[in-house]
Amino acid sequence: MSVDSPRGLVLIVEDERAISDLLRLYIAREGFGVHVVADGQSALAAARTMHPVAMILDVGLPVLDGTEVCRQLRSEGNWLPILFCTARDDEVDRVLGLELGADDYITKPFSPREVVARIKSVVRRSSLIAADEAPITLGDVTIDLVTRRASVGDAPVALTATEFDLLAHLMRHPGRVYSREQLLSEVWGYAAVVGTRTVDVHVAQVRGKLGSASPIRTVRGVGYSAEPPEAP
Ligand code: CA
Repeated sequence: MSVDSPRGLVLIVEDERAISDLLRLYIAREGFGVHVVADGQSALAAARTMHPVAMILDVGLPVLDGTEVCRQLRSEGNWLPILFCTARDDEVDRVLGLELGADDYITKPFSPREVVARIKSVVRRSSLIAADEAPITLGDVTIDLVTRRASVGDAPVALTATEFDLLAHLMRHPGRVYSREQLLSEVWGYAAVVGTRTVDVHVAQVRGKLGSASPIRTVRGVGYSAEPPEAP
């Protein structure tokens, strides 16, 4: 059963049986436990009670669609890594544009191997624990790599696993400029062929959450860096 799976449980939310059967097969083969549900309400219930390590979430679902499932979980403070499956470009825009706290998305038709690679990547990122690393502070922003918490001053800021990893990656080397391709490879574990829009969207989300305290600077024509605040 799933509770014995050494790599944890992956929740698959997909209303097309042929797709969920295929995903179940490939994900289980990697040593994950798998639980499949076919609608948004069941997804919410399973995410709340089963403590999955990641969720594959179809956008087009009956009754409660995938974006609404994500929104509800995030509003409850549930930051489970979510890989969205989108069928059309307008769904991609909805996932990226609404600051839903998606960790990643993949467009149908996809190869099951690619989904497996993405899931392994989001799980790896969310479980990376650097137990010996001290918290890092830049200006008012502090990140604790052990508890994976970010804060502005004393106020905690809720970041998704991906947002946290992106911020941590930049803040570990203040002043170093990373290209979008580098960030995709080093934070997401992807080749840049998937497109670099993901990076821009996540940077925008982190900035939105940190507000004026955000240390992330855009280096025109190059990429991004984390900078200490300007000396007064
Ligand atoms: Ca669907």
